Amino acid sequence: MIPAGFEYHRPGDIASAIGILQEHGDEARVIAGGHSLIPMMKLRMAEMGHLVDLQAIEELKGIDIGTDTVSLGAMVTQHELITHDGLAKAIPLIREAALQIADPQVRYMGTVGGNVANGDPGNDMPGLMQCLNAVFELSGPDGSRSVAARDFYEAAYFTAREDEEILTRIAIPVPGSGVGQAYEKQKRKIGDYATAAAAVMVGNGTASVAMTNLADTPVWSESASSALAEGNVEGSVAAMLGDIDPVADNRGPVEFKKHVAAVMLRRAIDRAQSRAG
Ligand code: FAD
Repeated sequence: MIPAGFEYHRPGDIASAIGILQEHGDEARVIAGGHSLIPMMKLRMAEMGHLVDLQAIEELKGIDIGTDTVSLGAMVTQHELITHDGLAKAIPLIREAALQIADPQVRYMGTVGGNVANGDPGNDMPGLMQCLNAVFELSGPDGSRSVAARDFYEAAYFTAREDEEILTRIAIPVPGSGVGQAYEKQKRKIGDYATAAAAVMVGNGTASVAMTNLADTPVWSESASSALAEGNVEGSVAAMLGDIDPVADNRGPVEFKKHVAAVMLRRAIDRAQSRAG
């Protein structure tokens, strides 16, 4: 299908983009790579009079590698996440997860900001960002604020972001050198969203565990993380199975999804542990 008509805006800075969102209220939406929004518009599941394209805003671009923190501009593409050598050294988990998203065509356009702001439980980056304890930086009419990825997701397609706020950057603490990381994703075919995916970090007496597409939000489990930090793998898997809430759909019934979740999590833990130390 063809999307309904809309007016196209291409602001050059964040303040102008926020101004357009304020002016048109519910009628306006930002567009980044367009690889979630345009399909929704074509299906007429999203319809708006004004699209605010973020492509020309330089402040939203770039990957900065600091000693303690990595900063990703919201408009960094999934392709850039894969090809940036400094990022692959600082936080290899991001490259490993980004390679599991869709296919090269989608990854050339799809952005990290769009992937996390979208609020789709099937997107890979939200659970990944919760595992990494990332912080989302938002700018709106009242200024800027930060929201932890672990506090950002409220329900499917509902997040802590206000309508007139733009996600500008993502700050991620660099894991310690002894920390092993792994991302495991089961999908029906290449390019598909996850039936279940697990992001794991473990080492130096700490652990962090998050899963994707097993509830209406990504699931970072405090109890699964604590159990893994104590070396209790099966305790961690059991805790995660208690925290997820999958529903039956064309990816399978609930029992199958729980089974796949446990398999993905064990594999990710195993690989992360083998990379730790
Ligand atoms: P857009 O589509 O432009 O925007 C998505 C939403 O986020 C919109 O509501 C928009 O208003 C909002 N938004 C975007 N940027 C910002 C911002 N900076 N501030 C505030 N709001 C913002 N994703 C996966 O994770 N895993 C997959 O396996 C996967 N498979 C896919 C397969 C196909 C065939 C396709 C078409 C897509 C797939 N995707 C998958 C989704 C893809 O990764 C999208 O690119 C991504 O979800 C959204 O990023 P985008 O830049 O395209 O955002």
